[in-house]
Amino acid sequence: MPHKRILVLGGTGLAREAADVLVDRGFDTVTSLAGVTRKPHLPKGEIRIGGFDGVEGLVAYLQREKFDHMIDATHPFAAQMSAHAVAACDKTKTPLLRLEQAVWQAQKGDQWQDVATVDAAAEALLRNAKVIVTVGRKEIGVFFARPDLSGIARMIEPPETAAPPQWQVLLERPPFTLETEIDLLRASQAEILVSKNAGGPRATKLDAAATLGLPVIMVARPSKPAAPIVASLRELLGTLGLAG
Ligand code: NAP
Repeated sequence: MPHKRILVLGGTGLAREAADVLVDRGFDTVTSLAGVTRKPHLPKGEIRIGGFDGVEGLVAYLQREKFDHMIDATHPFAAQMSAHAVAACDKTKTPLLRLEQAVWQAQKGDQWQDVATVDAAAEALLRNAKVIVTVGRKEIGVFFARPDLSGIARMIEPPETAAPPQWQVLLERPPFTLETEIDLLRASQAEILVSKNAGGPRATKLDAAATLGLPVIMVARPSKPAAPIVASLRELLGTLGLAG
């Protein structure tokens, strides 16, 4: 059994699963969290919480802690952290793997409009639209800034920008069942759903929207600097020299 030291950049359910499986396989694993979630579900292994203070801080941390690998398992939309990971691993010669699942693809029954950014999603909404927005706390502000929009903003942690009175903020954490998603979309009377293309197993909100014939504005992932990618835990373990 290799006694390797691994840094997992976390903040997602997949990162938690990765850390759990690496600990189970005997790796000395540290998961790093940004510290934005008040009560995070913690993985097995060691945890560190808070930013590194940019690339320089991450370089210093890597030089001090001497990891055999870094696994960037941050959310596909955490573009800054992923860019810092590439730069710092390059500088410290730390082998980097990005754990990134395949994007969601529209299927029969989906009515998706693809947009490049969250700002473009807000711009694409028709005047006075009633919407359900699931882009997260950091980027909900552009929707709140449009006084004609109303609806539900669902996120895990409270928004950075105060919600105008015509909005209801739903603080909920996945997983969500198809039944509860259908109930929510129906009860909200929303005319459209806004989602980021997080990818991985298809989200039940997308099936719920398709079931109800609700259109979806789908925000594409931001671009990130190139890094070796593994698309699943199985592929990750294989690349680390362990059978899935
Ligand atoms: P971001 O914009 O890429 O990063 C902003 C800063 O937060 C980074 O420069 C870094 O600060 C710190 N940071 C981010 N992830 C970190 C980690 N795993 N460990 C230590 N510091 C971290 O990230 P974000 O979009 O705000 O996301 C923050 C966290 O929430 C990430 O862990 C991400 O996986 C998770 N998350 C994000 C989304 C999303 O839609 N963006 C959705 C679900 C979960 P320093 O520069 O000080 O090092």
